[in-house]
Amino acid sequence: MLPKIREAELSELAETIADIYCPDGIVLPEVIAERKKISYCYGSYGGAFDGLIEQEHNSFHIFINIQKSPAESPRSRFTFAHELGHYFIDEHRQALLNGKTPSHPSFTNFSSKNLVEVEADYFASSLLLPETRIKRDCHKKKFNFALIEELARKYNTSITATVIKLMTIDKHPIMLVCSIAGKIKWFKFSHDFPYKWLKKPYGTVPKNTLAGVYFKTGEKFDEELPITANDWFENVWDKDVDRSFFEKCIYSDRNQFVLSIIWEE
Ligand SMILES: [Zn+2]
Repeated sequence: MLPKIREAELSELAETIADIYCPDGIVLPEVIAERKKISYCYGSYGGAFDGLIEQEHNSFHIFINIQKSPAESPRSRFTFAHELGHYFIDEHRQALLNGKTPSHPSFTNFSSKNLVEVEADYFASSLLLPETRIKRDCHKKKFNFALIEELARKYNTSITATVIKLMTIDKHPIMLVCSIAGKIKWFKFSHDFPYKWLKKPYGTVPKNTLAGVYFKTGEKFDEELPITANDWFENVWDKDVDRSFFEKCIYSDRNQFVLSIIWEE
């Protein structure tokens, strides 16, 4: 995760832009691009990138690859918002204008460790899910998967983007683990999550977790189910091994992909 202070800066920047250009309801990246005179196009560009921003003679152009997901889907909306991040975040725009990074090919898979990409991802989730609106929607609501789904539906965002934003509004401590073909690909946690390290970071998914059961037996669970701290986390004190958490999985059989959302009861 980014330092808290940087998250706050990017969240405020994104929310200001959302409030200026899309003050009511859902945020539309196209509308923001048009108002800033940034041209854009949707096309099929193979596997080269999900999104790309280019600068020429101080004009910016955004390409969105619709080969993986159609225009206006949560994924392509996120990609578009991410590319807008490279325009609106001062340091990113300056790098484009100086020709330091002539173009920015980006992938919407949240696995990048490149700071510029992590910042643009965080900007994107904050643009599509503006903090004040989200806090209002969460007010006095119990944290559970139904709340995540409700917000994702309302703002037309993916579950991942929604959780990434929820992690930073201090609603509830959350950990997110992405596993592919039985191995942990990446994980993120909110600053207030009690554990910062997994049992086998970047190794095999622990077998006593819901994700572990899927990779071992193929069984999927629709609901969030209780697990214990000792199932997923490393450095658990003896007295806390049975500390109770929930895990809810999102599955993609085709990609052998599982996203585990983990939170404390
Ligand atoms: Zn990018």
